[in-house]
Amino acid sequence: MIYTKNPAQIQKMRDAGKLLHQVLEHLKTMIKPGMTTLEIDREAERMIRAAGATPSFKGFEGFPFTICASVDEEVVHGFPSDKPLREGQLLSVDCGLILHGWQADSAFSAPVGKASDEVMKLMKVTEECFWLGAKQARAGNRLGDIGWAVQQHAEANGYGVIRDLTGHGIGREMHEDPSVPNYGKPGRGVRLVAGMTIAIEPMISMGDWRVYVADNEWSILTRDHSVCSHYEHTIAITDGDPEILTLPGTVLSEDA
Ligand code: MG
Ligand code: MG
Repeated sequence: MIYTKNPAQIQKMRDAGKLLHQVLEHLKTMIKPGMTTLEIDREAERMIRAAGATPSFKGFEGFPFTICASVDEEVVHGFPSDKPLREGQLLSVDCGLILHGWQADSAFSAPVGKASDEVMKLMKVTEECFWLGAKQARAGNRLGDIGWAVQQHAEANGYGVIRDLTGHGIGREMHEDPSVPNYGKPGRGVRLVAGMTIAIEPMISMGDWRVYVADNEWSILTRDHSVCSHYEHTIAITDGDPEILTLPGTVLSEDA
């Protein structure tokens, strides 16, 4: 069941998205060699609770942390740890929160110190995949238009598109219908309507798309150990241009 949101509800999601954006911007400044992802996790939780919101990941199906911290070959759902980050690693931080009953979900990838050109390119292309997908998030289009836009750009760069995990509807719940795959066929799948709110989140690997689950039963890693990048925002589909709720003030015009 897909729940569309009215303008008042989207305003609440905009408020949640704005707070999450502030949290993630702050976390970005903490990423450097020697820092631990556990310290970043604690800071995220402190900041979210200080603003009167709740970390949505913590306790979700038993997940024990406020952020997912996924390093290099970890795709998503990495556990924050007390292992110091090392120069050149790729760190993906995924975080969600609930403010006044409404959810926001967003992720970014960043280099620890200075990373190789290959790693920098992977992150750049992953972000481009997101924007190409988001541009398709318009009433009248279909989910396959989003997936195709992400997939063709990743594959044109020789990268793998993770298939086992997808984006999702979001609202009062973190994961609502529909699933939003990062692959697909143009013109296929659920038709998008104004008031739908979805998280688009390409997970792109330097190598193959196949993954496995770690012994902690959460963390997802690439089977071929290739480095993976993740980028996500929560978006509102409107009568006009899509609005990026976790990037305050950002609407995507058709010719952008
Ligand atoms: Mg997320
Ligand atoms: Mg998500």
